[in-house]
Amino acid sequence: MKNELNKVKRKALEELTSIAEPLELELWRKRYLGRKGLLTLLFKRLAEVPKGEKPTIGKLANKVKEDLTREFQTVANSLAARKAEEEKVLDITLPGRRPPRGHLHPITRTNGEICAIFSRLGFGVVEGPEVELDYYNFEALNMPKDHPARDMQDTFYVSDNVVLRTHTSPMQIRVMERQSTPVSIVAPGKVYRPDSDISHTPMFHQIEGLLVDKGVSFGDLKGTLTTFVHLMFGRDTKLRFRPGFFPFTEPSAEVDIQCVICKGEGCRTCSYTGWLEILGSGMVDPEVFKIVGYDPEEISGFAFGVGVERIAMLKSGLDDIRLFFENDIRFLKQF
Ligand SMILES: [Zn+2]
Repeated sequence: MKNELNKVKRKALEELTSIAEPLELELWRKRYLGRKGLLTLLFKRLAEVPKGEKPTIGKLANKVKEDLTREFQTVANSLAARKAEEEKVLDITLPGRRPPRGHLHPITRTNGEICAIFSRLGFGVVEGPEVELDYYNFEALNMPKDHPARDMQDTFYVSDNVVLRTHTSPMQIRVMERQSTPVSIVAPGKVYRPDSDISHTPMFHQIEGLLVDKGVSFGDLKGTLTTFVHLMFGRDTKLRFRPGFFPFTEPSAEVDIQCVICKGEGCRTCSYTGWLEILGSGMVDPEVFKIVGYDPEEISGFAFGVGVERIAMLKSGLDDIRLFFENDIRFLKQF
């Protein structure tokens, strides 16, 4: 009797593991626990058990029944839960779930706006390597090794002759090397300098511009950049050209716009000057033309470099550049 009870239990539990449908489960219940079920029949035979063994066998029989009932309930619950889940998935009357729609990062967008303006003015867009040879990043831009101007740009060195580019200006050289005049390009991209504070991040974005042709003058530079500022910040934006220094342009000019926050009155953002520096520019140095094999007697040109984060911050009124790269979705959603 004891063996039979254990055998029934083992068989019942074994069958239970392969049950996947409520109907199979109900048949199983009838087979073991139903009125004519195997276990029920064993219970009926308890009367035949010799008196001395009755308490032990009776206890075992009850235990088997309890176990089977409990396991039955567990499987019944999990089948019911699965059915509910399936019905949820298969409810074709529910509206579809749309994937959340993102948008471009504010820097990507500003970058696109700037490039679009220069495209309208006839500039082509080119891109180049972020890991750059020292030659293109410095030497060919009139900054030989040990030139003091290199100190203006802290640099990540990959090896003695390879750097993470500190500006997008190397694209001037790369483009002029492979084509003849006229040249009119803008080169957007990431640049790197080991700086980090409220107005610097080790990686940021620049757009370099270059126009070379016969008879290009400083007047063309002023006209082009004035048009750019007016399209970017509005027709009423005042700007000024201030003498500056870059090793690869001569003369060089920094371009300021009237402070967009205080409209020239003076505030914290503009350090109470009323003006904000937005880009550097100048006439291409004849030495640079010689390096790429252009004849500076024949042609002339101008170059400029725009900081994309700077423009994005001025347009949005932000005062901490690091916010752009913390990837805080609550911040990025505002744009
Ligand atoms: Zn101001």
